[in-house]
Amino acid sequence: MHYYSTNHQAPLASLQTAVVDGLAVDRGLYMPERIAVLPDSFYESIDQLDFQSIAHRVATAFFGEDVEPDTLKELVFDTLSFDTPVVKVTDSIYSLELFHGPTCAFKDVGGRFMARLLGYFIRKQGQTDVNVLVATSGDTGSAVANGFLGVKGIHVYVLYPKGLVSEIQEMQFTTLGQNIIAIEVDGTFDDCQALVKAAFMDADLKAHMNLTSANSINVARFLPQAFYYFHAYAQLKRQGLADNLVVCVPSGNFGNLTAGLVAQRMGLPIKRFIAANNRNDIFFEYLKTGAYTPRPSVPTIANAMDVGDPSNFARILDLYGHSHEAIKAAISGARYTDAEIGETVKMVFEQTNYLLDPHGACGYRALSEQLRPDEVGVFLETAHPAKFKDTVEPLIGQPVAIPDTLKAFMNGTKQSVPMSKAYEAFKGYLLNQ
Ligand SMILES: *Cc1c(COP(=O)(O)O)cnc(C)c1O
Repeated sequence: MHYYSTNHQAPLASLQTAVVDGLAVDRGLYMPERIAVLPDSFYESIDQLDFQSIAHRVATAFFGEDVEPDTLKELVFDTLSFDTPVVKVTDSIYSLELFHGPTCAFKDVGGRFMARLLGYFIRKQGQTDVNVLVATSGDTGSAVANGFLGVKGIHVYVLYPKGLVSEIQEMQFTTLGQNIIAIEVDGTFDDCQALVKAAFMDADLKAHMNLTSANSINVARFLPQAFYYFHAYAQLKRQGLADNLVVCVPSGNFGNLTAGLVAQRMGLPIKRFIAANNRNDIFFEYLKTGAYTPRPSVPTIANAMDVGDPSNFARILDLYGHSHEAIKAAISGARYTDAEIGETVKMVFEQTNYLLDPHGACGYRALSEQLRPDEVGVFLETAHPAKFKDTVEPLIGQPVAIPDTLKAFMNGTKQSVPMSKAYEAFKGYLLNQ
């Protein structure tokens, strides 16, 4: 299968090129040339299949022409070493818990799949020593680093701003060792990103080493996020609850939501979507006005959604032929202030004993306000609340239990390489490896 660029100026790319390059040369995002509608028989019996088997069927529709069957199956099963259960919160609202993976956030699914797919292409080419550079403000670095941990032939450099990520986040990529190297940059996230960009544009450096990126727009991270929409549907169908399904996605860069739209395009019976924003409400405003006006992000307590120019907006436009009307018909919006998010965490915990994280809280609240009586709503609980314990604990007035996977990171030993934000220093370091 080929991949085209949303800017339509770059040549069609193979899966391998799309995965290794990430972004197309015209700076557009790659999209699969075809989105196959899966047969009715699949949907009729989907409630009898387990998560891995469902995901394998979906993965085959995308990657079946480009990856050998046995390898693809192994890749999917290996990626999904954890469940994504649907948990009841109220009679009509359900939580799709995406935090049971190694770093307790949904990015584990895409991060693990991408690491394995890239590893496969590298082995196929007989290449060794490929270097993945990733700049992170927190969550991406941990999902990518843990996804690539122990993958042969790949060295991962995680660049993060010194003192500007939470302790739990930092421990998730500085304690791993093996093929993961944490670079602690004396600067901001933007400085980290600038170093990565400069390295990719440096022909001299690239002549000395194989460089690739693992950013969130990569198709190998984006498409696997469709898997759990199918699995959520299967779980609700088993309970007779899947007929009028509304899915609500707490959104930042909109990769997660767009994967859901792709699942729907494959025939998954989702009635409609809701995109929940925090105060970074560029998409909400777009739905209302038809004008897309990016602006600098503002910090909120749902910080993984603090995005001022969502990269996957280009994919949404592409899926709906740039029609504002069509996008509005498929997706409705919501936006919440920090006070509203906090109030929701507190109220839901008091009323139902279910503990939301600040991102999931946006999703829950939008459903509670917008769900019609004949509908069932499921929101994506994108991270474990313990990852945001400093925010959540004061709201509910009690400690949050930390899952064992997170505890294990806290017991590790931090190892990082201090780095100035000057490019020459970073380049010199890479050339010495
Ligand atoms: C990344 C992230 C989001 C936003 O997902 P997008 O795909 O960028 O819209 C939401 N919640 C959490 C916890 C995240 O880490």
